[in-house]
Amino acid sequence: MLTFEQARAKVIEQVGKLRGPRACASVSVWDALGLVLAQEVKTDREYPPFDRSTRDGYAVRAVEVAPGTELQCVGEIKAGDVVTKTLAVGTCVQIMTGAAVPPGADAVVMIEHTQRGGDVVRFERAAREGQNIVRRGTEASAGQTVLSSGMRLGFAELAMAAQVGAAQLQCAKRPRVAILSTGDEVVSLDQQPGEFQIRNSNSVSLAAQVRIAGGDPVPLGNAADRVEDLGEKIERGLKEDALVLSGGVSMGKYDLVESVLKALGAEFFFDGVAIRPGKPAVFAICQGKPVFGLPGNPVSTMVTFELFVAPAIDILSGADARPLPLVEARLGEGLNEKPGLAHFLPARIEWRAAAAEVKALKWQGSGDITALRNANCFLVVPANREKIEVGEPVSLLLRKDVV
Ligand code: AMP
Ligand code: MG
Repeated sequence: MLTFEQARAKVIEQVGKLRGPRACASVSVWDALGLVLAQEVKTDREYPPFDRSTRDGYAVRAVEVAPGTELQCVGEIKAGDVVTKTLAVGTCVQIMTGAAVPPGADAVVMIEHTQRGGDVVRFERAAREGQNIVRRGTEASAGQTVLSSGMRLGFAELAMAAQVGAAQLQCAKRPRVAILSTGDEVVSLDQQPGEFQIRNSNSVSLAAQVRIAGGDPVPLGNAADRVEDLGEKIERGLKEDALVLSGGVSMGKYDLVESVLKALGAEFFFDGVAIRPGKPAVFAICQGKPVFGLPGNPVSTMVTFELFVAPAIDILSGADARPLPLVEARLGEGLNEKPGLAHFLPARIEWRAAAAEVKALKWQGSGDITALRNANCFLVVPANREKIEVGEPVSLLLRKDVV
């Protein structure tokens, strides 16, 4: 059986082979958050476009300013003012943050280090050449590529685009991800479940996870544990860019997802991973589309999505797969888990002073959404560990939706 790292690598390799040119659209920077850029963005001019003051204070010639120096203040420069006049020898000019430093001046002294009486400014300390000035062109040169194709657009990237005037961006369209739950016991949210039925929570969590991963969820409802119904709905799902199923991949008599996929020509790359929860997870390519059969227990579904489906959505979005957001923290309460499988335990990381501490939460196993609701991460117990003592460093997978 594959480790989760090996299984993930399989997904990345196989979906990477499917990646063709993505359909693109021109999107306003206001709407492009989370999309993947499909063009280069270059600067329209140098940045900063002029020698910019980074402080409120006085523009001076550094050599003229020693502790106790007094200079005549000959005016003021606000942010946005047109600046052409050279600073006369033996004078200073009041300047604001974001304003252009006048020719001749080579330092800005913070107002906090000066005293003013009328037009005379007294300086408390020496000035150093270049202080509090960002020189023209030092952040970026004109025509420099500042965003490239395949980059994910977060707030900083969008600010970059806005700064250089790229108001419309060619972006890859989000991959459409079909979501199909399975199970005779599963009813939709608009139905009142019978005593032995359950509501379809997996389709809701999967749709949210698809969205967070950058995909466009296409919920297809629920298939009964019957070959015909499953076959029909899976075929419908294969019309989208990827298909994610929940349930029906374990060893039960009515776990039919794999056999139905096989009949539709699927090639399987794994049908089990050495993890708990999530061991029966399946990954196949069927009719050219990546298909994930995730176990139906809600915590299993969520964990296996993060491990295996999220990187596929990255690649189908035109980006590289992001690394798993694993971080390290100190274990706050000792652990004892069965070795052999890597465990992903619902857990809570708390930040106290500078140190992060994580504790596994009490839970009733992989069906326990109530426990997961209190978790902000999954504590990762490696397959070869049985006992982990308080204070040992452990790895955890952050829930990126809440942390
Ligand atoms: P399965 O993987 O089909 O054996 O299902 C495992 C467990 O997950 C069972 O207790 C199911 O009732 C539950 N389950 C399956 N599908 C869903 C769903 N869509 N939403 C919530 N729970 C589910
Ligand atoms: Mg089932």
